[in-house]
Amino acid sequence: MSEQTTAAGSAAAVAPPPGGMAGAAALAAGMAPAAAGLRTDFCGRLRIADVGRVVSVCGWVARRREHGEHLAFLDLRDYTGILQCVVDGAHDLRAEYVVRVTGTLRRRPEGTTNPSLETGEVELHECTVEVLNAADPPPFSLDSRVETDEIVRLRYRYVDLRSERMQKNLRTRATVTSALRQAMEGNGFLEVETPLLWTPTPEGSREFAIPSRLQHGSFYVLPQSPQIAKQLSMVGGIDRYYQIARCLRDEDLRADRQFEFTQLDLEASFVTEHEVQAFVEDAVARAIAAVTGERPAPALRLSWAEALERYGVDKPDVRFGMELVDLKSVFAETAFNAFRSDAVRALCFPGGAALGRARLDALVERAKGLGAKGLVWMRVVPGDGGGLALDSPVVKFLSDVEQTGLLTALDASLGDLILAVADERRRACEVLGQLRIDLGRPPVYEGPWRLCWVVDFPLFDGVDDEGRPQAAHHPFTMPRPEDLDRLVSDPLSVRAQSYDLVLNGWELGSGSIRIHRREIQEQVFAGLGITREEAESRFGFLLGAFRYGAPPHGGFAVGIDRLVAILAGEENIREVIAFPKTQSGADPMTGAPKPLTPAHLAELGLRVAPTAGPNAPGGARRG
Ligand code: ASP
Repeated sequence: MSEQTTAAGSAAAVAPPPGGMAGAAALAAGMAPAAAGLRTDFCGRLRIADVGRVVSVCGWVARRREHGEHLAFLDLRDYTGILQCVVDGAHDLRAEYVVRVTGTLRRRPEGTTNPSLETGEVELHECTVEVLNAADPPPFSLDSRVETDEIVRLRYRYVDLRSERMQKNLRTRATVTSALRQAMEGNGFLEVETPLLWTPTPEGSREFAIPSRLQHGSFYVLPQSPQIAKQLSMVGGIDRYYQIARCLRDEDLRADRQFEFTQLDLEASFVTEHEVQAFVEDAVARAIAAVTGERPAPALRLSWAEALERYGVDKPDVRFGMELVDLKSVFAETAFNAFRSDAVRALCFPGGAALGRARLDALVERAKGLGAKGLVWMRVVPGDGGGLALDSPVVKFLSDVEQTGLLTALDASLGDLILAVADERRRACEVLGQLRIDLGRPPVYEGPWRLCWVVDFPLFDGVDDEGRPQAAHHPFTMPRPEDLDRLVSDPLSVRAQSYDLVLNGWELGSGSIRIHRREIQEQVFAGLGITREEAESRFGFLLGAFRYGAPPHGGFAVGIDRLVAILAGEENIREVIAFPKTQSGADPMTGAPKPLTPAHLAELGLRVAPTAGPNAPGGARRG
């Protein structure tokens, strides 16, 4: 420990300070100093109005600049920002040392203010510096201008968390969860904690299993969501439930996925889907307002079918146009073979006529990669007599009427690029939907904040290899009453009472009105190929609960990591999670996952198969 004093008595002027060695001794003994604590102020909050005050601040040494033999400038950092301290001889103070500085705040001398710092007009002088803890040189620079490899950041996450970016992101996260809680509680929702040691549920994700020590060969499952527990809480009369819930899914990781993630989970009884949506929208809008200061406009509402028709996706980014246009009627009688197809859809990319041949060829390849047979591009160029014309290798196959009809249908202007796909309807829409995003989409976190409800999803999403329908959302979703009678005869045409919320083209979450009647739940299980015995053994407790007075109910879950990432201006949710895993599911800081000791395995009644997994002899550990 080193201690330097420049102005005798300055520390004593802080009332009442944990004076000098007495404070240090208390710290060394692991005791909290009495009364005022170690600091009077936070570094980043001091301003001109505080000039003349004697203050104590604590934090980490961000930078030290020597000025001759004895004088040094110390940038002290805490979570609120940086304060410049003028100290005498700071030779043994190094980056990331933990110090307490006591001094008098003064206005910086003429010409030395720093407009890029909030505290740039003031500095602390006549300083006493106490080293509260020395530190090894940091493993990487915390200067935001220096890029550091993410694995290194994650290995030393506790250092990384000191960076301005991570401080801001985690505080944004807390602002969001706090606003969500306030909104839910304001709407009469009760926070209920549901178990982490749970039982398998059929929500479609691979689940993490936890071996039981007391019942060898039996396993708990970590919840992929509190879905069934929250439904049971409705049977239990909770009426309005919410939870900031951790969900665990053993799925391959991507930028917007982690094994464990957090959602605002909610469920309410005796509600319509509109009411659930209103609760969710209010909570999300309040969270957005809490971070950005602006409440977003009311959400747009589209049916799933309309979203596909107009935007080619079920999570449309409605911040920009370039909507898909149906050209079937324009080309109803066409002689152009390529357009005599099930569907012809097009979009107009403003200004896109400037794209060179290589970019256009790349777009054609992209469309083919997405499954289209081809892509027709047409540049909108000046025509004879001041009108518009099309420039494209296919234009010679199109009649004048078709060309005019096309330009009118797309409301095209000079310099635009028209892209058309003729294919089976859904494929034509989806390919163009992706091209629309590729070409026109602003970064997700760029305002304006545009929420969009997508409703009326199909109940089933295609069939599996054995011809069994697959649940599009999860199998607890209530079909639309008017479609119920087609559940067995034509399951793929049945619409669900389910809905997604989309923010700037990112799916924020989904929900539904649930099945609360046993016979409908049994029919849906049967439709999904879940036998009566299997349903009974896996969800007997849920079906059983439906016998005892289950109210009609519905709910939703909002992905908090995604919401925070968008609001924090981050593309990757790892940046808004304090201790995330890498893309391969590893934690470089703790080394998890790790093998268990033989004794621990024996206690759990487990034996590791010799060839399985990356920890097998000769297998590579994932980093
Ligand atoms: N359990 C669903 C999910 O986690 C959300 C819901 O339907 O409430 O996606």
